[in-house]
Amino acid sequence: MDCIFCKIVAGEIPATKIYEDENILAFLDIAPVNPGHTLVIPKPHYANFMELPEEESAVIIRTIKKLAAGVIKGTGAEGFNLTLNNGTVAGQVVGHVHWHIVPRFPDDGRVLWPGQVYQEGEAAAIAEKIKQQL
Ligand code: AMP
Ligand code: ZN
Repeated sequence: MDCIFCKIVAGEIPATKIYEDENILAFLDIAPVNPGHTLVIPKPHYANFMELPEEESAVIIRTIKKLAAGVIKGTGAEGFNLTLNNGTVAGQVVGHVHWHIVPRFPDDGRVLWPGQVYQEGEAAAIAEKIKQQL
């Protein structure tokens, strides 16, 4: 399979690993938003979050919590962004599900998206559409 993260799991290309167990690997992002920016992946190939089985999601989230604590302490960050880009339209470039742990520092200038304003009735309408799909 032509997946760069599978190749990292297989040891075919190098990565700066910070954690590994039977099912999970964490390594530094090659183009960090801030130093210590960490990627966390399941070792098996799942293209995105929706394909990740329920049991594996639960375990990986628990592990991410531990890793985030390590990233915070190890970098001296004051906080972190935990992100997952799901789908090309959302900015997912590598098609192997992964979480980003991005350490954040005061005044680091990493500005997030601006919020928008709902028009009258718009929030209720979209909430209803979402609820009907649950
Ligand atoms: P995404 O846009 O959510 O798919 O994020 C993919 C991330 O993978 C980007 O932040 C890249 O910098 C990172 N990346 C791509 N190739 C490598 C690699 N060989 N080692 C470490 N990180 C990588
Ligand atoms: Zn893969």
